[in-house]
Amino acid sequence: MRILLIEDEIGLIEALKTLLKQENYAVDTATDGISGLDSALTGIYDIIILDIMLPNKNGFEVLAEIRKQNIKTPVLLLTAKTELEDKIMGLDQGADDYLTKPFHSGELLARIRAILRRKKEVRSDRLVVGDLVLRQDTRELFCKDNSVKLAQKEFLLLETLMINDKQILTKEQLFEKVWGFDNESEYNNVEVYVSFVRKKLISSIPV
Ligand code: CA
Repeated sequence: MRILLIEDEIGLIEALKTLLKQENYAVDTATDGISGLDSALTGIYDIIILDIMLPNKNGFEVLAEIRKQNIKTPVLLLTAKTELEDKIMGLDQGADDYLTKPFHSGELLARIRAILRRKKEVRSDRLVVGDLVLRQDTRELFCKDNSVKLAQKEFLLLETLMINDKQILTKEQLFEKVWGFDNESEYNNVEVYVSFVRKKLISSIPV
């Protein structure tokens, strides 16, 4: 799962990045409304965490533009304000949920899971396809009683494949989901990691 975090408070960005990565989410960040909107419009994210008070374009403007461009990615608004009016405005504009700062990290994670469940891309604690079970908390792949541990990128790749098990995914889609846009990774990493995952799949099969 890939999360876009649009937030201008550096301390909070660092804390949330650490928290979300611990939970095995891939995280990209933007620190102002305009660059955040650019990233959001790529449509590759599973969830967008959007602060309201942002430089250049505020969260409401970003949200309105995302929905206008028909991007359906779920949005969780972060607000420092407690006014009921803001929350109603946010939800009316197409936010899926909101959280008032300061919040407890456990609550943020629970809201994210709830949004993803509603989206039916179940991020409970395990994904099941046939005999294969992928555990999100430990990055372990099980086949019956046998198990094998996956590295982070291997996990993201297999997770993407298992969520979309009825679909054919392009190399571009896999690259965007696993590596995002924020880095200088080689495009042919996709082939390399597909071969790693294939080996893990084979070693997960009980002999
Ligand atoms: Ca802010």
